[in-house]
Amino acid sequence: MTAKAGSIYLDYNATARVRPEAAQAIAHALEIGGNPSSVHAAGRAARALMEAARNEVAALIAAPASTVVFTSGGTEANALALESAVAAGSKRLIISAIEHDSLQETARVQGLAVEVLPVQADGVADLAWLAERLARWDAGDGKPFVALMLANNETGVIQPVAEAAALVRAADGWLHVDAVQAAGKIAVDSRGLGADTLAISAHKIGGPQGVGALTFGPRATLSRRQHGGGHERGRRGGTENVPGIAGFGAAAKVAGEALADFAAQAGWRDAAAQRLKAAGSVVMGEGAPRLANTLSIATPGFPADLQVMGLDLAGVMVSAGSACSSGKVKTSHVLSAMGQGELAACGIRVSGGWGTTETDWSRFVEAWFEAHARHAARHAPVAAGVA
Ligand code: PLP
Repeated sequence: MTAKAGSIYLDYNATARVRPEAAQAIAHALEIGGNPSSVHAAGRAARALMEAARNEVAALIAAPASTVVFTSGGTEANALALESAVAAGSKRLIISAIEHDSLQETARVQGLAVEVLPVQADGVADLAWLAERLARWDAGDGKPFVALMLANNETGVIQPVAEAAALVRAADGWLHVDAVQAAGKIAVDSRGLGADTLAISAHKIGGPQGVGALTFGPRATLSRRQHGGGHERGRRGGTENVPGIAGFGAAAKVAGEALADFAAQAGWRDAAAQRLKAAGSVVMGEGAPRLANTLSIATPGFPADLQVMGLDLAGVMVSAGSACSSGKVKTSHVLSAMGQGELAACGIRVSGGWGTTETDWSRFVEAWFEAHARHAARHAPVAAGVA
């Protein structure tokens, strides 16, 4: 991404800036060319690149490489997991209230009963609810399918996935974990967490858009998503996106190596939050464990769209709630689920990443205060009754 000179990009949770290592790997794969299913030299070279990338991606999430299926992104990985569980007999789905639209919508169109796993005011899933619900599961509904993400895209709140996995396993269910935002930001151990399926996406870790992966554990059977040749061990037909996968692998390698650096973002993020809080802003999920890079902050009386536009004018790029595909700003279902009511319409998400500096966070704060002052001046009560 070539951001305008002097502009500040703080929207990594929407799409991280592409890491140079990923860009190089993509260019190299394009030069090699070749179809990984071809037996000649170019084909073998393309396959070697793809399998090396599979190993890197698998290492990032501590999964056996043989269980990593490449997809077109996090959305498809989530859909593959949910649809596989339905094909395996789940007739009732439990989806957490803060899941990404890709899971909510895929669940909705199945024509099955969908229940919402609620979150508490701090954005953490209510596991007491889950335990109680699974305890009275009706065997006629098949195996329970539960979707609980590892870290939320808007608030960065990290979910108690291992604890949820223990509950789901005791009920002989299937736990799907959307780790799209967590991967590359915190250590992700897909097997240690007890996930039956776990999804990640390249463009959230500094790789290209349009490529992701799903890993599956021994209790999950994946159904065939796209028919065609025997690609991806027969699980997803279609010639693989070799350049994208190569970029994904390179990004996964660097992201894994840089996990410790990533944690430094928390200090910069919290310093920025303190300054906005002095102006009456409220940090979402502040008391819960959160990703180091993510700040979800709402300011009463200062609508999210005006904040985003005001900051954009100053060259600072953030988003309102989750970046939705239409580009329109809508009230965040995540903040609403946290019981934030009207404040949900006043929340912005500021998210740094591998290229972010402390200065970027300070420049965001300065630009925000300027935008806030302009908004306050426009909405100041007009003095009445002056003769
Ligand atoms: N899951 C989460 C938590 C996300 O934040 C996103 C992207 O915004 C997705 C899934 C979808 O990933 P992709 O854009 O690769 O389809």
